[in-house]
Amino acid sequence: DAGSRALEVVGVTRTFGALVALDGVDLSVGPGERRAVLGANGAGKTTLFNAITGDFPPTRGRISFFGEDVTELPQYDRIRRGLRRTYQHSLLFRGLTVRDNLFLASRGVARRRFSLLRPRGGDFAMAAAERLAGQAHLSRRLDTRVADLSYGEQRQLEIGMALAGAPRLILFDEPAAGLSPGERGNLVALLHGLPEHLGFVIIEHDLDVALKVVDRVTVMHNGRIFKHGTPAEIEADPEVQAIYLGGQ
Ligand code: ATP
Repeated sequence: DAGSRALEVVGVTRTFGALVALDGVDLSVGPGERRAVLGANGAGKTTLFNAITGDFPPTRGRISFFGEDVTELPQYDRIRRGLRRTYQHSLLFRGLTVRDNLFLASRGVARRRFSLLRPRGGDFAMAAAERLAGQAHLSRRLDTRVADLSYGEQRQLEIGMALAGAPRLILFDEPAAGLSPGERGNLVALLHGLPEHLGFVIIEHDLDVALKVVDRVTVMHNGRIFKHGTPAEIEADPEVQAIYLGGQ
């Protein structure tokens, strides 16, 4: 029953000219579920995220979000319904502080809600910015400019930005890429600390990080779903190991 699922991807195909980046992908994620998507470079993971968010709509197939077909909806309407994502590249305002980045993210989401009460919208967004900094483990960095943050803190801030408003499902695109072992530990703690009702899908090349933070794992290969399983099943699967490590 699609109505009881947070995300339902059915038969999604995406081609770029002659290249079939996604080939009939099905993926179903329950409310509050945490799911990893693994696969070698070029397996189609980011293209799947792009189809779900509407960055690059699918060539074929349907996508439902909490029971509603969003395949044709503009990105903004998906965001309004509680879908969020992070990117492999940064979308932060480097010259602004952590507080101001989070303020802008919150105001962007709150604008409609407070269109008749504009002054309150500003107060609301400022309070929200401080709450988000806490969730991103950046409370002590509120007045630091993004350019002066460490790389790991910048990635944390990107997660904080995705938490603005009332997210119901977040897509994290390789949040551990480029992080030191210590920063990876912080990331795992941050993800564990997210509200329990909040589901996420995480693309991650670092198996250690991915398997620590999810309930289920989906492995992609050449634009198709290769396998679903629990972290323990996937970790023990020799076929998965061969394909996954083959792409490293
Ligand atoms: P990585 O782990 O390297 O990020 P991925 O699993 O996310 O890989 P995708 O980025 O989804 O893989 O790419 C899947 C295939 O689609 C690749 O062959 C890629 O070159 C191709 N592709 C993705 N986006 C585009 C685009 N906008 N135009 C043309 N080809 C694209």
